[in-house]
Amino acid sequence: MTVEVFAPAKINLTLHVTGQRDDGYHLLDSYVVFADVGDDLTVTLAEDMALTVSGPFAAGVPTDARNLCWRAAELFGVTAHIHLVKNLPPAAGIGGGSSDAAAVIKALEALTGRPAPFDPMLLGADVPVCMVGHAARMQGIGEYVLPLFQEPDFAVLVNPRVEVPTPQVFARLAQKANAPMTPWPEGGGKAAALAWLKAQRNDLQAPAIAVAPVIGEVLAALKGCEGARMTRMSGSGATCFAVFETLAAAEKAATRLAGERPDWWVRASILR
Ligand code: C5P
Repeated sequence: MTVEVFAPAKINLTLHVTGQRDDGYHLLDSYVVFADVGDDLTVTLAEDMALTVSGPFAAGVPTDARNLCWRAAELFGVTAHIHLVKNLPPAAGIGGGSSDAAAVIKALEALTGRPAPFDPMLLGADVPVCMVGHAARMQGIGEYVLPLFQEPDFAVLVNPRVEVPTPQVFARLAQKANAPMTPWPEGGGKAAALAWLKAQRNDLQAPAIAVAPVIGEVLAALKGCEGARMTRMSGSGATCFAVFETLAAAEKAATRLAGERPDWWVRASILR
């Protein structure tokens, strides 16, 4: 039996760095949502392990134990044949590898009928939130995940095709102890939610721009789009997003931006 699973892009609508642990990991307070763009996986239990990769971003993806998909199966205690269609740019701040790992865990749970016998944190700090797969608040270094309900948002995602290594960005962060998110506005609808979102931050945005200045260009291009209501970077970059009122407005902006910057990865998306 083969299970097909979708590994959605993870978007940090906010990412506040509130401290640093003695082991170097950073304490976070982040509002995470998931896009309707992502990687596609098929997983089949088999006598041996095999990982194959295709798709627009397949080049350079490891097909052995360096890949989180492989390690997820190992930790699960099974062997499987996994095929990954890599649609998401790598090292892009949208959790591609973490979302793939969460998808493999879910597929193996479905195939074996038993829950994962290990803590998903073992595969990385973003994997627990990726197991939820929809809006959630993430705290600690990623181990505390509170699922949330939210109305879908419409966004344009842009990656300038520059890979940004996460540790480099954290290393450039001058101030580690920053304020957490302010309380979520109860009631008040979409307008209050948008005002709240605008007032939050991604503390990694400035250090990421220092590592990859093109991120500043991406943010300016998104801000210049007709109908863009707020813009920010996701994760440690370089992918940035702008929020729109409707999917049609996001699609129009994405079509225009993709025409102007054919070298950039541009997608209109529904965020949940
Ligand atoms: O856990 P993951 O492999 O996704 O993290 C990649 C790197 O990002 C870590 O090695 C660490 O340098 C940094 N990181 C951090 N604090 C976190 C999550 C990640 O410093 N909460």
